[in-house]
Amino acid sequence: MLTCADSRGLVLACALLAGGPAAAAAPVETPYAAVSLPFELLRVPGTPVYYIEGLSGVPDSVNQGHTSNAGFVVTDAGVVVFDALGTPALGYRMLQRIREVTDKPIKYVVVSHYHADHIYGLQAFKEHGEAPVVLAQRGTLGYAGGTADSQGEDAARRLEQRREALFPWVDEKTFIVVPDEVFDQEKRFELGGVQFEIHHLGPAHAPGDSIMLVKNYGVLFGGDVLYGGRVPFLDSPETDIKRWLAGLDYIAGLKNQVRYIIPGHGTLSDDAGQVVEATRDYILYVRAAMARAVQDFVPFDEAYRNTDWSRYEKLPAFDGSNRGNAYRIYLDEEARSLKK
Ligand SMILES: [Zn+2]
Repeated sequence: MLTCADSRGLVLACALLAGGPAAAAAPVETPYAAVSLPFELLRVPGTPVYYIEGLSGVPDSVNQGHTSNAGFVVTDAGVVVFDALGTPALGYRMLQRIREVTDKPIKYVVVSHYHADHIYGLQAFKEHGEAPVVLAQRGTLGYAGGTADSQGEDAARRLEQRREALFPWVDEKTFIVVPDEVFDQEKRFELGGVQFEIHHLGPAHAPGDSIMLVKNYGVLFGGDVLYGGRVPFLDSPETDIKRWLAGLDYIAGLKNQVRYIIPGHGTLSDDAGQVVEATRDYILYVRAAMARAVQDFVPFDEAYRNTDWSRYEKLPAFDGSNRGNAYRIYLDEEARSLKK
């Protein structure tokens, strides 16, 4: 896999992230299904924080469901994982990568939010990874269900869809792991001398949206509240733009503590302010365009066609996400105008 460096010498894995097709790699067997994608472990410079970057695009049989980012932090007393990727097979590959770096026990898997592309890998951590504590914000229980057999309807529907779209990586044996421990607004803990701070923001992109700051190293895992160099996903039924913008303000306020951002999708950045602003800029642009259209009674198709998308259309995930994003915001604006 090629890498490229930016002007400050920060090495970024960029070849696969430019929206190109997933390059084939020798298949690696897992107890779930073989994964035949490059699965490079990247490291945040100068830290024991590692991450894996997903491909851009919606989960399909070409990318094998590998569309989100996940990472982990190695401490003297154990490992803290953040998110678990989109299939049990990918979760297992991540577990293998962790074991290449350390044999310390995996203590926690922190989940940014319960969407399929971040959680199906939890199954591998439960079945093959010393049963770490799965930690998530309380709002995720509506999706995950309080117990394994009381899942929310959205979760069940999504799982059915993924069993079709991502077979054999997601199959009849795939199940949703429910959080072992939930928190409300904030959770702080220390492991092996490393301070972790998890904050709930939102609901922004999803009900349980949470970010994790690894204080000692100034690394922020942003989940799907932040996107690196690509078009965000606004097209989720629970997306709440107002709270999302408030969440971005909160992250902007952390800027003196953050040296690196690992977003939920897209590339690592050492410019926290830029990542926040790029996400905010996109949200505000789509909202302004769609609000104007609703106000002028312009039908969606026409509004979409007449909007100048040139500032975003070269970005990864534009083709897969932009229209759905715009439609979601259009519907929101319509609902808002009816309430007036
Ligand atoms: Zn995601």
